[in-house]
Amino acid sequence: MTKKRAKVAWSQVCLPKEEGGLGLRRATECNNDALMRLLWEILTNKHSLWVSWCNLEILKGRTLWQVVPQQSFSVTWKCLLRLRTLLATNLVYTIGHNSSWSLWHDPWFQSIPLRERLGDRAIYDSGLPTDATISVVQQGSLWNWPLHVWQLRDINSACSNISFGQRDSIGWRKVGGAFSFRAAWTSLRSSAPVVTWAKVVWFSGAIPKHSFCLWLTFRRAHLTRDKLQSLGILQQSMCPFDCGQQETIDHLFFECDYTKTVWSKVMELNNCPIPVAWNWDAIVTWALGHTIGRHFQRWMRRAGLAAAVYHCWRERNNRIFRQEAVSTNLLLARIIFDVAKKAALHLCIQDTPSNRALVENWEIGEAIFCQPSGNQQGAAQSGHTSASML
Ligand SMILES: [Zn+2]
Repeated sequence: MTKKRAKVAWSQVCLPKEEGGLGLRRATECNNDALMRLLWEILTNKHSLWVSWCNLEILKGRTLWQVVPQQSFSVTWKCLLRLRTLLATNLVYTIGHNSSWSLWHDPWFQSIPLRERLGDRAIYDSGLPTDATISVVQQGSLWNWPLHVWQLRDINSACSNISFGQRDSIGWRKVGGAFSFRAAWTSLRSSAPVVTWAKVVWFSGAIPKHSFCLWLTFRRAHLTRDKLQSLGILQQSMCPFDCGQQETIDHLFFECDYTKTVWSKVMELNNCPIPVAWNWDAIVTWALGHTIGRHFQRWMRRAGLAAAVYHCWRERNNRIFRQEAVSTNLLLARIIFDVAKKAALHLCIQDTPSNRALVENWEIGEAIFCQPSGNQQGAAQSGHTSASML
């Protein structure tokens, strides 16, 4: 098996799209979600055969937090017990009057069981039983800790902020919060800052392979020849478009004479002014400011950018790996074909002078214009759903 270099780290791929990933879920995180669900069912004592079995065979009158892992436990149970610390950080305990939560074992105080925090000696010194419930340190609406143990004096002062509720309850992430896979995944998964370019890459009607290629470009993840040379895989990094320059992301998109010609024609079709700077950072700045939004012209700019990047990258690969080359005019024809076909199939726009100008430039059929009535019916008959745009 050959070891291939990943263009983007798996942890990054598994981020949501708005955080710069592809929105995949890591198998380990999905598995943890499912296990959390089981733990939640035990904690809330759900009426199910499995929970009843666990109470009878594993817990045997103890709380989940008291169980000590044993060799004889199933793999599932060993995994469940390992997740208790993570589980505790997601739980919000409400302490009722005369509370029956386990004083020392349940993680009701700052998500860590007191036994773990204080140790057995402090519990022994307190004179309270090891199976005590919180009710033993409650007196009316006040806390009543044995203050001769110094650690408990600290707990007592920290508890002064915790008031009692009507009854004991447990919530997921908030008071009364219910468990859901989505909420669990959101709170358990690794996260990253939101990326501003996600809406340029992922949008309704986008062509998936174009979006994917554009996503790699925004992440600067394409294995361009300058990268391969720095890794020692290639001896030289000359641009495959025979311009005599080094191949970098900035050069390919779109400083190279070949790709610059293609991109300037796409800009022309979209009635956009010709850019002053052609490197990728300049394209990103332009895209963030001029392609996001609900207007048809913005959709066309996004689709045009994605198609230009995709076809230029594909042409670059064809030249390197297949020794095949096409002219900028033929490449532009492919871009127009892809974008016009997708727009015609996916969109339904208003007949305004600026929209009509773009439709004519890109040679999109008249059917893209919304009809005053019967439009939805027409869309349904043609077997696709149209997105209405301004
Ligand atoms: Zn070049």
